[in-house]
Amino acid sequence: MTQSSGNIFMVVAPSGAGKSSLVNALLEKDPSLALSISCTTRTPRPGEEDKKHYRFVSMETFQALRDQGDMLEWAEVHGNFYGTPRDRVEQALSAGTDIILEIDWQGALQVRRHYPQAIGIFILPPSIEALESRLKNRGQDAPQVIARRLLAAGGEMAHASDCEYVIINQEFSVALEQLRQVICAARLRYTAQSVRHAELFTQLGIRKPLSTA
Ligand code: 5GP
Repeated sequence: MTQSSGNIFMVVAPSGAGKSSLVNALLEKDPSLALSISCTTRTPRPGEEDKKHYRFVSMETFQALRDQGDMLEWAEVHGNFYGTPRDRVEQALSAGTDIILEIDWQGALQVRRHYPQAIGIFILPPSIEALESRLKNRGQDAPQVIARRLLAAGGEMAHASDCEYVIINQEFSVALEQLRQVICAARLRYTAQSVRHAELFTQLGIRKPLSTA
């Protein structure tokens, strides 16, 4: 079996749409997926662990990593800085592992410049009211932080059109299944399958696309 390059899935959403819960549930069901751990200058929320949820760094460290070219993309979001370490993504792709990036729309645009084949999945809430109540009910952020995130949500959702797929997170289990289906569909694309099953394709006399020939 020939090694195929992994897929990059960018999961984008406004704060409170349930993106992290969906991605965590997805990873539990599909441990073959890698997760990119972002660097951030944000302070940890209760329960968040360094190097598991984020790599929590100072502004100085963030700037140094960015200026050294260690970030695939970076952006300022809600007053904090976030960035995707380049090495984990490159390692996953060259090992043929699919990797998920939970990033904002600005980061997604930057990733696409490097990897035009990256797949964007936008998670929408079923309504503004649902977004607001999720942000308030998770009880992890101060009221002014919630207000800031709600204000930004409209601008972020306007970028849903940058993504190939849109999932509306009304019913968690349905949204999770839809997310899994997107991942599955990407893995079944002709190019990926013809590389993954090169021998079979040859045996069956199927011509490979020019890009993998
Ligand atoms: P939170 O503070 O709620 O964890 O994340 C705030 C926003 O930052 C979310 O939209 C999240 O997707 C985004 N974010 C998290 N990590 C990254 C990253 O590495 N790069 C970019 N551009 N955005 C990120």
